[in-house]
Amino acid sequence: MPTVEELFAPPPEVAAHPAVAATTRLCADVIGPHAPAADDPGRGVDPAHPRALAAAGLLSVRIPVAEGGLGAAQRVDVETVELLAGTCGATWFVVTQHRNPQADSTSPIKGVAAGAYRHGPAAARHRPGLAAATTLAGIAVAHIRRPGAPAVRAEPAAGGGWRLTGTAAWCTGWGITDLTMIAATTPTGRFVFALVPTAPRPGLRVGTPAPLAVMGGTRTVPLELDDMAVAGAEVLLDVDAAAWTAADALRTADTRPATLGLLRRVLVELERLGRRRPEVCDVAGALGERGAALRDEAHALLIDVPAGERTADRIRLRGEIAELTVRSANALVAARAGSATLLTSPEQRWAREAMFHLVQGQTDIVRRAQLAAFAAS
Ligand SMILES: Cc1cc2nc3c(=O)[nH]c(=O)nc-3n(C[C@H](O)[C@H](O)[C@H](O)COP(=O)(O)OP(=O)(O)OC[C@H]3O[C@@H](n4cnc5c(N)ncnc54)[C@H](O)[C@@H]3O)c2cc1C
Repeated sequence: MPTVEELFAPPPEVAAHPAVAATTRLCADVIGPHAPAADDPGRGVDPAHPRALAAAGLLSVRIPVAEGGLGAAQRVDVETVELLAGTCGATWFVVTQHRNPQADSTSPIKGVAAGAYRHGPAAARHRPGLAAATTLAGIAVAHIRRPGAPAVRAEPAAGGGWRLTGTAAWCTGWGITDLTMIAATTPTGRFVFALVPTAPRPGLRVGTPAPLAVMGGTRTVPLELDDMAVAGAEVLLDVDAAAWTAADALRTADTRPATLGLLRRVLVELERLGRRRPEVCDVAGALGERGAALRDEAHALLIDVPAGERTADRIRLRGEIAELTVRSANALVAARAGSATLLTSPEQRWAREAMFHLVQGQTDIVRRAQLAAFAAS
């Protein structure tokens, strides 16, 4: 019978890829040892670590070589994300923000008709830096997923550009990133994405870091915008709101590779613990088999099936994997017993990170799928 580690092992050509080797090395030597500190609000993610990942090409794995990336296949990218998220949730979460502005500046928006969006001047200006990740970006966009009155409004400014007013509740990586992409709703039913320096400016009040039970070291702050001017040159995208929302529903339907990385890590640790305790070994085997089967399905949907197909299956799967990750992390706590709750133990951190994977990029339909999975388990 294969071990959990074998069940989750990538195909040999993926394991041998230089990006995977570089991720493994950085995780073991640099990011893993700092993970307890990165989780701690008083210390936090070391700003040098996202830069080290970027310098190794690991924030540009799928970007073509000609644009400063590694030009690797999606399966390689997925493997690097799984390894990083299974090593340090906080570092993964800071760098994952970069993916949206990078994608939005470098390629057409998937699932949105070309006529429904316009790239602004900031796309061409920042494209090389974002693609190669020599310029790091964060985002404040989750509020445009909420129905009802816009949380951040964009009014056209006299002489071009926009004036932004409202509250963006979440912005991770403040002080680590170079640029921040802020989404706002226009009076004509469009979303404007401004790409501005991650720095104080008139009309922008940066709140104190949120007092978080997890991801406390990710420098996550609220942004209060009070008639903040955005120059026309700072606009990255201007997109039809309904078209963006429809495309976002397809994107958020998929299981995040990071969740799979955490699931894999806790199951491998459970199996290691089970080497000395047969009753733990059985649980690790059962959860490992289920987890590996769900992961294979998630990989197939993400990589092989075009977006827009089998959306209901993707959402159901995302709910089931989130639930299994929470259950597996808690099984590890139960198996480790009291010492798992020491702040020096990784088990309590992984249990909190599993909780976080429930809410990251959560939409109403994803939340329903998660609740259905909890009800069924
Ligand atoms: C530690 C942390 C860091 C984060 N960092 C970032 C970041 O850097 N950038 C960023 O953009 N976001 C960030 N987020 C936001 C994260 O992606 C959101 O938590 C997630 O999208 C859920 O949204 P919400 O928390 O605003 O919850 P809610 O407002 O409850 O929304 C959850 C979802 O439910 C749906 N919904 C809400 N109300 C209704 C309703 N009345 N009717 C129907 N559907 C509804 C919406 O689709 C919404 O997306 C962060 C969150 C956390 C916890």
